[in-house]
Amino acid sequence: MGHAEFKLRDHPKASPLSLDEYWMPFTPNRDFKSDPKIAVRAEGMFYWNDRGEKIIDASSGMFCVAAGHSRKEIAEAVHQQLLELDYVAPFLRAHPKSFEFASRIAELTPGDLNRIFFANSGSEAVDTAMKVALAYHNARGQAGRTMFVSRERAYHGVNFGGVALSGIISNRRKFGPGVPGVVHMRHTHLKENFFTWGEGAHGKELAEDLTRFINLYGAENIAACFVEPIAGSTGCIVPPQGYLKRLREICDQHGILLVFDEVITGFGRTGEPFAAQSFGVTPDLMTMAKALTNAAQPMGAVAVSERVHDTIVSAAPENAIELFHGYTCSAHPAACAAGLATLDIYKKEGLFERGKALAPYFQEAIMSLKDARNVTDIRGYGMFAAVDVASDGVPGRRGYVFQKKLFDNGLNLKTTGDSALLAPPLIAERAHIDTMRDILRRTLDEL
Ligand code: PLP
Repeated sequence: MGHAEFKLRDHPKASPLSLDEYWMPFTPNRDFKSDPKIAVRAEGMFYWNDRGEKIIDASSGMFCVAAGHSRKEIAEAVHQQLLELDYVAPFLRAHPKSFEFASRIAELTPGDLNRIFFANSGSEAVDTAMKVALAYHNARGQAGRTMFVSRERAYHGVNFGGVALSGIISNRRKFGPGVPGVVHMRHTHLKENFFTWGEGAHGKELAEDLTRFINLYGAENIAACFVEPIAGSTGCIVPPQGYLKRLREICDQHGILLVFDEVITGFGRTGEPFAAQSFGVTPDLMTMAKALTNAAQPMGAVAVSERVHDTIVSAAPENAIELFHGYTCSAHPAACAAGLATLDIYKKEGLFERGKALAPYFQEAIMSLKDARNVTDIRGYGMFAAVDVASDGVPGRRGYVFQKKLFDNGLNLKTTGDSALLAPPLIAERAHIDTMRDILRRTLDEL
């Protein structure tokens, strides 16, 4: 493999960076290194590249920086925390901010999802939720419930549990059999709902796939049903009307836990703290990450219902560990400090309400691209949307070119396959949305 290097254009005197050693995740490394897209600075709604050009951030990094980039309050909280208490083991020891942060998250979660287990990423949160589900059934004498129901096109991170739940073939196909006993319902991206904003009128009946698995495998073998309330990484697939409620009913009838993976949809993306509240359906477990700390520190978490938590905890003998699970950096002090500062910003600036108020304008702007060249579908909910471009015959190739051209034209977003995903920071103004729409239209024309 050849050698690649890069000279930062705003630092002409700096020695060139070798690009060889850093193996980039989820990136065609060879192509990237022949045409690197580098950000050297970020603030508010924008990145700056190494030529000093401003790039508007249309997907909050990767759905993370809801409060905008490089927030001083968060940086200072982390700095202060690292000077005061850099680390304490989370097993058998604790620090005050871990409790404080858990209480603050519990103020935002729906129902009785008031017990918070900390991890370091969305992937770890998902695997944690799978283990909690298994431990719960074990504790209530139903250890036979080991199967999981997930969905085609699901993304639940990249650890082995999450990959088993995954419904995206590229994320599974090279990694062997993984965790057994996972079955997948059909996805809900239906032609009949194309160009619909919000919950589509078609597809509620797809929730009956869960019933079919119950009839096929027996409810007594199924631990949990995992869904992203809005399937995010696969391209913002909004649930059909009544679909999530129906899943809730089926789970209730059969003693199956319902898990919402809110790694993307959490923290105001849908106009409420969580999508669970937007859709009026309360799961038993809920995973979160990304905007939990505005991505200023890596962190994930699982909100667990008191019932599930208490069942596990009270089944263990006195003085015994109740759940043999956790990470060296669970509830890391710097991450808790970042998270508390983030929640303070959300509250002080009313960002969830702000996102909700801006959503209709965002919807109109993005839906106005309906007649733009190469667009095959647009959908969205709250401050989250997908614009699909026509495939050039090789799935994902057009989408990949699209995001590169967009970056060069001054707009950063995440694509997945041939879908461009928009999830602006919740600090966005109308003028920012206009800029996004205009750059999108121009770039669609160039495709
Ligand atoms: N779950 C969902 C729904 C996600 O969208 C993601 C990441 O995009 C994850 C889990 C994994 O999170 P992480 O990349 O932090 O491990």
